[in-house]
Amino acid sequence: MKTSQMFGKRTVFSLEIFPPKPTTGVETIYRTLEELSNLKPDFISVTYGAGGKNGAKTLELAEAIKTRYGTESVAHLSGMYLTRDDVIRLTNEFRERGIENILALRGDRVEGLEPTGDFPHASDLAAFIRELGDFNIIGACYPEGHPESASTVDDIHNLKRKVDAGVSHLISQLFFDNDIFYAFLERAQIAGINVPIEAGIMPVVNSKQIGRIIALCGVKMPRKFMRIMERYQDKPLALRDAGIAYAVDQIVDLVTQGVDGIHLYTMNQPYVARRIWESVGGLITESTFEEESTTTSNG
Ligand code: FAD
Repeated sequence: MKTSQMFGKRTVFSLEIFPPKPTTGVETIYRTLEELSNLKPDFISVTYGAGGKNGAKTLELAEAIKTRYGTESVAHLSGMYLTRDDVIRLTNEFRERGIENILALRGDRVEGLEPTGDFPHASDLAAFIRELGDFNIIGACYPEGHPESASTVDDIHNLKRKVDAGVSHLISQLFFDNDIFYAFLERAQIAGINVPIEAGIMPVVNSKQIGRIIALCGVKMPRKFMRIMERYQDKPLALRDAGIAYAVDQIVDLVTQGVDGIHLYTMNQPYVARRIWESVGGLITESTFEEESTTTSNG
C-alpha cells in the first residue's frame, strides 16, 4: 500500500458531490457540505459539467469546502470542450480561490457539441495543467476498462500515459465486484503505475440510481447485488438499508486487502455517507495507523 503524496495518508477516505441544479436552493448544498465535513474526510471532490463551460458552481463549492468547512477540496475539470485559453483562465481562478487539487478529466461526450481538439484525452489536460503551475493533479481510472477502450490492456497503457503526464493519484469508477478491482490493481502494477489508487464506491440506495448504473455500460453487477436490486426496488427503506450494507461489505473487504483509499460517491446524501462512516470509520482510521506503526517499527 502506498502513502498518498497529496493527502499524506495510507488509507485515504474521500467523498464526492455534484453541484445542485439551479432550481435547488443553494442552502441545501451548504447543509450537505457541513454534514459531510463533519465526517472529517481527507477531501471532498466536486464534479464539473460535461460540456465544460458551466464550471462556476464547481469552483465556488470547492473554495467553500476549504474556507467555510476547513476540509481539503478537489475540483474536477473536464477538458474535451475547453480550449487552452479556457484552461489558463480557469487555473488562474483556481489559484485565486486557493484550490490546489484538480481531477483532470476528458469528460463525458455531449451530443451535438464539437470537442475543441485541444484536450482529446485526460492526459493532454494533465500535461498542460502541469506546465501551468504547482497543482496536484488527480486522474480517473476504470477497473473494468473504459467503455470506449478496445481492450483492458489498451486502457491500462493509456492510464500509464496519464500518470506519466503528471497525475499523482487515481480515483476509480464505481464497481460492485471487488475481485474486478483487485485484478485491475494487478494490471496497473504490471504496467508500472505506482501512484495511489482509490476505490470508487457508490451505495445504491434508491431505484433511480439502478437505471443510471445500468446505463453506465461495462459495470458488472454480481448476482448478490442483482438480487438485492430486484427484490427491493419497490421498497425504499429496505433498498436503502441493503444498499448501505452492500457498500459497507465492499469497503470492509477492500480496506482489509489494503487498498490505498475509499472514494464514496455520496450523490449529495449526507445521511448515507454518515451511516457508512459510522460502520467503517474505525476500520479505516486504525488501518491507516496500523500501517504507519508497522512502517515505523520496520524503519
Ligand atoms: P481519458 O483518460 O482520456 O480516457 C478516455 C478514453 O480514451 C479511454 O478509452 C482511454 O483508454 C482512451 N485514452 C486515454 N488516453 C489516450 C491516449 N493518449 N491515446 C489514445 N487513447 C487514449 N465526467 C464529467 O464530465 N465531469 C466530472 O466531474 C466527472 N468526474 C468523474 C470522476 C471519476 C472518479 C470518474 C471515474 C469519472 C468521472 N467523469 C466525469 C466521467 C469521465 O469524464 C468519463 O468517463 C469520460 O468518458 C472519460 O474521462 P477520462 O478522464 O477518464 O478520459
